[in-house]
Amino acid sequence: MPHDTPLIATIVAGLGLAFVFGTIAQRFRIPPLVGYLLAGVAVGPFTPGFVADQALATELAELGIILLMFGVGLHFSLNDLLSVRKIAVPGAVAQIAVATLMGLGLAMLMGWTVGAGLVFGLALSVASTVVLLRALQERRLMDTERGKIAVGWLIVEDLAMVLALVLFPAVASFHGGNGAALVADPLATRFGLGLTGVLVLTLIKIALFIALMLVVGRRLIPWVLHYIAHTGSRELFRLTVLAIALCIAFGATKLFGVSLALGAFFAGMMLRESPLSQRAAQETLPLRDAFAVLFFVSVGMLFDPMSLVREPWPFVATLFVIVVGKSIAALVIVLLFRRPITTALMISASLAQIGEFSFILAELGVALDLLPKAGRDLILAGAIVSIMLNPLVFAVVDWLTARLEQPQAASPAAAASEAIPVTELTGHTILVGYGRVGSIVGDALHQRNAPFLAVEASDDTVAKLKQRGIEALMGNAARASVLRATNPAAARSLVIAIPEAFEAGQIVEQARAANAGIQIIARAHSDAEVDHLKGLGADIVIMGEREIARGMIEELDRQPAPDAQESRQHSAA
Ligand code: AMP
Repeated sequence: MPHDTPLIATIVAGLGLAFVFGTIAQRFRIPPLVGYLLAGVAVGPFTPGFVADQALATELAELGIILLMFGVGLHFSLNDLLSVRKIAVPGAVAQIAVATLMGLGLAMLMGWTVGAGLVFGLALSVASTVVLLRALQERRLMDTERGKIAVGWLIVEDLAMVLALVLFPAVASFHGGNGAALVADPLATRFGLGLTGVLVLTLIKIALFIALMLVVGRRLIPWVLHYIAHTGSRELFRLTVLAIALCIAFGATKLFGVSLALGAFFAGMMLRESPLSQRAAQETLPLRDAFAVLFFVSVGMLFDPMSLVREPWPFVATLFVIVVGKSIAALVIVLLFRRPITTALMISASLAQIGEFSFILAELGVALDLLPKAGRDLILAGAIVSIMLNPLVFAVVDWLTARLEQPQAASPAAAASEAIPVTELTGHTILVGYGRVGSIVGDALHQRNAPFLAVEASDDTVAKLKQRGIEALMGNAARASVLRATNPAAARSLVIAIPEAFEAGQIVEQARAANAGIQIIARAHSDAEVDHLKGLGADIVIMGEREIARGMIEELDRQPAPDAQESRQHSAA
């Protein structure tokens, strides 16, 4: 090699192997995420062969977290956060307390100190942002009440961890660890602040950051974006979005001691108020996905598979706390707040894992001599295995939900499960998506009293349709179980009014296989999408942009001729 390029090598090995392992996982119907983790194990120091740069991988992963939290902020309004605070704040606090106590108990059994037990327990109590968001997005739960509670819960956990990270060094120094050397805050050292002092200082800094974002950020950020949008340069707009996300996240960490994730979250939230936010969200998607993959790879790299063999029992107990103990705690808490059991189950499932914050806590704990190295290994193993198990936990929840809701046909939760009751309609129209396009089609069908069934991913829309007496099914129509419930074999036509052509393609393929004679009308946004959908068996594909153009031309043609002449004379004069 002419020169050493660890950064390039790490990115290439990470993304390349993640691609290979992810594809294999997909082939075996396991979430690709598990493939990314295994790719990390393969390039990690504990398996033979190429070893990627661990420190670099961790930093790259951090970028993924920033972009992810920025995206969450873009979708999450302050009102959403406030609307779930009554359940998210006590819920998260109680769950952290329960999980920490369980971890502490386990640590005591293993003969560790109380300090070690606290660090260990706290690390087991926080869920991974990346894993949770992935799970919610995959299931299209982000905009549901359950999804909002889960995200709010996570943000409270994040805030608690920010406090913990700042407090640990102080606590360690009071307990004779080597914390004094590491006290994070120069101000605290300078003024010789005690534990309470450090706590107050941290709270003041977080409050200052939030106030600054609310007062200045909320006006300045949308203004900058609007200014750039008017320059008309796409490239510059993308750059602006990225620069805002990264600079605020980094600034928040350096100036206010707030975590990168939290800083990025607030940056996104400030942008949400602006009508450009949707575009901003779109622009960061590709980068976000790439770096989220690197996050999973870097987690895999930390894992020593042999540690499971060396010490199986502590590991099993740790996993139990994460997957079972925490879930039961969350379940009970949500039920105490009188939410339906299906909501409670979903929230428990999304929190039954640990991730990035736990690693950070573990690293700090070890550096401060608070936590034995074995603790860090247990946390890592617990994280990896709980992340791998998470899809399985969701499957169990889906199954349980279906069981619990069986009497109520086609309820939102049942739609997520495998056994959805099939519609009784025949000779009907299946309408997929009830957004800007689908709602117009659906309303027309409704007025004509034509038999039809709507499939929608948003549960709010489904609830509204049912109120109007329209048969609607909640779920992703691309899923075989959902599509089967629409009875495509007996349907007359299928209208696919969703903007995503790949999902639309999956629907076309399955419907065509079930019914060779069904008329399939689909929606597309480019010529390539038209070809793709026709190739899979769609009869008619309507391209949105072409129809818009046609409408514009029609309007031009409709304009009376004398007017046009007049205006020409005006411009000549
Ligand atoms: P619009 O682009 O405004 O027409 O909205 C599209 C609608 O389709 C939204 O309401 C989405 O919730 C819904 N949608 C998108 N993908 C799917 C899918 N795979 N299955 C069911 N509904 C979907």
